[in-house]
Amino acid sequence: MSAPAIGGVQVARGNGATIRLPRGASLSDFADRIGANPASLVQIMLHLGEMVTATQSVNEETLQLLGAELDYNIQVVSPEEEDRELLEAFDIEFGEDEGDEADLAARPPVVTVMGHVDHGKTKLLDAIRKTNVVAREAGGITQHIGAYQVSAEHEGEERRITFIDTPGHEAFTAMRARGAKSTDIAVLVVAADDGVKPQTIEALNHAQAAEVPVVVAVNKVDKEGADPNKVRAQLTEYGLVAEEYGGSTLFVDISAKNGTGIDQLLEAILLTADAELDLRANPTMDAQGIAIEAHLDKGRGPVATVLVQRGTLRVGDSIVCGEAFGRVRAMLDDNGDAVEEATPSRPVLVMGLTAVPSAGDNFIVVTDDRMARQIAQQRAARKRSADMAKSSRRRTLEELFSDLEKGRVDELKLIIKGDVSGSVEALEDALLKIDVGDEVRLRVLHRAVGAITEYDVNLAVADDNAVIIGFNVRPEPRARDLAEREGVDIRYYSVIYQAIEEIEAALKGMLKPEFEEVQMGTAEVREVFKVPKIGNVAGSLVRSGVIVRNSKARVIRDGVVIADNLTVSSLRRFKDDATEVREGFECGIGVGYNDIRLDDVIETFEMREKPRV
Ligand code: GDP
Repeated sequence: MSAPAIGGVQVARGNGATIRLPRGASLSDFADRIGANPASLVQIMLHLGEMVTATQSVNEETLQLLGAELDYNIQVVSPEEEDRELLEAFDIEFGEDEGDEADLAARPPVVTVMGHVDHGKTKLLDAIRKTNVVAREAGGITQHIGAYQVSAEHEGEERRITFIDTPGHEAFTAMRARGAKSTDIAVLVVAADDGVKPQTIEALNHAQAAEVPVVVAVNKVDKEGADPNKVRAQLTEYGLVAEEYGGSTLFVDISAKNGTGIDQLLEAILLTADAELDLRANPTMDAQGIAIEAHLDKGRGPVATVLVQRGTLRVGDSIVCGEAFGRVRAMLDDNGDAVEEATPSRPVLVMGLTAVPSAGDNFIVVTDDRMARQIAQQRAARKRSADMAKSSRRRTLEELFSDLEKGRVDELKLIIKGDVSGSVEALEDALLKIDVGDEVRLRVLHRAVGAITEYDVNLAVADDNAVIIGFNVRPEPRARDLAEREGVDIRYYSVIYQAIEEIEAALKGMLKPEFEEVQMGTAEVREVFKVPKIGNVAGSLVRSGVIVRNSKARVIRDGVVIADNLTVSSLRRFKDDATEVREGFECGIGVGYNDIRLDDVIETFEMREKPRV
């Protein structure tokens, strides 16, 4: 075999062959694919400077490094791709409408309401629901199932709009962090008396990153001091230019409290959908979609609100949703009415699942229960190994140090949660004042009052490497579990000064270490010996300091460095090996440089890390 030894180990090289590995694969998995012994891969990694065990999940970089060393082209497969492949094995294609153009029918837009806290997202979602009495059947009791549908008159036509009823961008971020697309249009709520705020921008960033068109609802126009035009002016800076200013974004002035402007807002949503999107789906295929919300109901068992994205979901269908599966026993709409079938963009509460899926899981109708169970089980197995990989992938504050040292990261991202707004602000201010020069930066992704939520953790996941700071607050149980699963670092403090000290230390750790040369000793060459196998050795007298074996060395002749980057590879006192020889003593020094001459000076030194002050 064409197998040069790497670190003394023989492994067949790949000659550029491609191998596919799941994210979080171990060296054992790698060895499996190339028919090598896992132990030899461990040894090669050791040679490359990383200590990993054979069965431990390693990150993509490590796989790539090993691949490059062995001349394999490594393709790390994402969980989404892996899932797609899993489904393909069952002859299922998720996310595609079957058939051709003729099979597609228009579907309602799905809307998420986002914006800064207290700007009126919840109130708006309530107001929209209330004004839409038409759609509600007599006697129906409003149910909060996580999404609802309303109807609106548009150009003489009755049109439907689906609203995701989990205010804030929590759900949106959670789903995006998992690569799921649930939303067609985002309504950005901005209070006219408060203007654009940090979370407004954050929400906008999320929408823009997901390439979702935005309609701006300028809320609270009933309030004294409301300045809707200021909101328009402010948002132009972020690329949202109102139609009346020559842009393409629709701004609608509303009062969620008084219920004014709601019809115009619905109209603006439909106009935007028609102008910018082609919302069509095949209603005749087996249903597919996404879970928006799910929980364990005391009486009904696991229930999940799903959004049908294509096809028609019917009672009796066998479905798989994430790692849950089952047969649809019954479906309820947002009025609490039983539904027999749900067409595209329709949200329904599904009963009959074996377990509670997660928000963002996809659901698929499959041929029978057996297939549903098989898919669910395979997903569960894959998730377990992916989870293990993830916890090794994310970094703790301490680990960031080494990442930064290697130049992989130069920014520390924080999410700050605190008990009162005063402390959050004070902490943020103080942290941003830490001066560590230009090499590393500190960025606060999000700050808010209250417990650490799943949203915070998801944000940390979406922005790889973000660390969450809890100042006198703790995570909600579900957030804690999620953080544990995802390996997100949460730090708790109750004293500001302590938090600052630790973050400062971390940031300093992040600075690429600076090394300085420290001279250790000099020796004068008195004689040159030829030693078999080693080469020329300098019989020397140590003039200053101490000559230490394995230290770095250079050779100086008449005050000029004539050889550098040498190492004291052999050091002898008379016939014996020595580890160090002090000033005033004679010794034989080998530095692997053959042209050594009488009266040369050998200078030895070491590189020491300069402490940061
Ligand atoms: P969210 O945090 O964005 O969901 O905000 P909420 O919907 O909870 O609203 C925050 C506060 O603003 C509540 O006290 C609402 O009653 C109030 N609010 C919401 N919309 C309006 C409005 O149009 N006018 C006025 N005056 N107050 C509003």
